Order: sequence, then structure tokens, then C-alpha cells
Amino acid sequence: MYLVDYHVHTQRCGHACGEDREYIETAISRGLREMGFSDHVPRFYQPKDAKMTVTERGMTAAELEGYVRAVWAYQEEYPEIKIKLGLEVDFVPGWEREIERIGSLYPWDYLIGSVHFIPEWNYGYIVRETEHGPEEIYPEYFKKVAEAAESGLFDVLGHIDLPKRSFERLAPEVMADLQQELAERLGKAGAVIELNTYGIRGGKIKNVGLYPDEQLLRFCREQGVRVTLGSDAHRPQDVGADFEQALKLMRSAGYTEIVTFERRSVKMIPWETY
Ligand SMILES: [Zn+2]
Ligand SMILES: [Zn+2]
Repeated sequence: MYLVDYHVHTQRCGHACGEDREYIETAISRGLREMGFSDHVPRFYQPKDAKMTVTERGMTAAELEGYVRAVWAYQEEYPEIKIKLGLEVDFVPGWEREIERIGSLYPWDYLIGSVHFIPEWNYGYIVRETEHGPEEIYPEYFKKVAEAAESGLFDVLGHIDLPKRSFERLAPEVMADLQQELAERLGKAGAVIELNTYGIRGGKIKNVGLYPDEQLLRFCREQGVRVTLGSDAHRPQDVGADFEQALKLMRSAGYTEIVTFERRSVKMIPWETY
């Protein structure tokens, strides 16, 4: 089996723990063939308006260089696993040029584009949103994810149905329509999404399952959306965590190949038979 974990944080972001090497060692002990660091980008999108506070934390701009150099050093140090250089970048409309600039700073293997907040509302982490209810949050969140895909700025989209971490799902027929529309837009944009296991470890609501859920993953598959794997580990022991469930879902949705990245180009790998 050829498995990768492309969504791994480091303590630089301020809300993850452990040493970088412990993350790598977990990846090796779990038999992963590749592990990509994808820590949170420095907060380039800090709004000028002081009333808009940013609560999602990332490394400082000064730390970025050290992060990149550390990952390059690990690539030499651990020949037994491919270590990739990634970054999780917030999608914030209006900041496209800055995102592009960050993309050109280093030879990234991939950028994960993630929606963590709705900037028209506020810059707080969406799972802690209090002013808006799920009936507003889901359509707005999916819209932003689709726009992130259509922007062409990212190689893969992070946790595409994140709000379920804190918010009740909408009625099944409403959710199905929204998910179908999202999948169609992702398909047209030629997007890659991650199958992210973070939700299994729980949010405000206990074990919300994988991002995306089975139905959305099926819709994505039908629309030709490609997939890769990520744990969203913020602790070393979570690298590759709950991948059995992810693989089960990939099989049932009919995904025989996963996406791997190198220098921002895609290679499809038949993960089960490789
Ligand atoms: Zn984080
Ligand atoms: Zn994220």
C-alpha cells in the first residue's frame, strides 16, 4: 500500500505540540511512504481594521524560512520516507496576490488551500462562529471552498466540510443539494481534495467522522475530483491516525488512486496495489 499523510502541523503554529522529528518517526512507524509538513501560513491576511481580530494562529513571517530549511534538512536525514514541503494557506478573497507571492517564495511541493473563516463576517475560526447559524454557515463555507478551487492558487483543498465540527448538519435533502453543487464546481475546477481524518478525533461535537463525509466524497468521485490523504495532526501521535477508516471510505467511494505532489505537480498512485 502506498499511503501518504500530507496534512501535518508543527509547534511553530502555536497550537500544535511535540518535536518535528516525532511526527516523522510516527509516519515511519506507521509505514507511510510519504509525509508532508503543511503548517499554517503566517497571517498575511491580518486586516487593517483593528476591530477585526484574527484568532486562528500561524507561524510568524520570520519563522517561515526556518520551517522550510528544517524540512529540507529532514529530507536528507530520513531517506526511508519521502518528506514533502507543504503549507496550509488560508483562502481569503482579496488576498490572491499575496497567496501567489507566498507560493513563489519557495519550491513548495504543494499548498493546501483551507477556509478557516468567512472574512465578510469576521476573522475568527469558523467552528467558533456565534453570530451565524448552520443554515448560513454551510452554504457560505461551501461557496468559499469552491472559490478557493476556482482561484487556481492551491494544489489541494483542506477539510472541505469543516463546519460540521461544531454545527449540526442541515436537513438531508438541503445538504445533498449543497454538496452536489460543491462537487460539481470542484470537478469543473479540476480540484484535488484531501480526505482528512481530524474530525474523527472530535471537535465541539464528538467524532464528526471524516472530512468530507461519505456522501460528499461520492459526489466528488462522480465529478472526477481527485483525492489525497491527511491527518491534520497537531500532535505527533496523530500522524496517519484513523487511516483505516479513510481507506475504507476511499474504497467504497471507488477511489483506486491517490494524488501525490512534487514541486506542485500531480502524480496519481494506485495506492492499494503499488
Ligand atoms: Zn491548526
Ligand atoms: Zn485547517
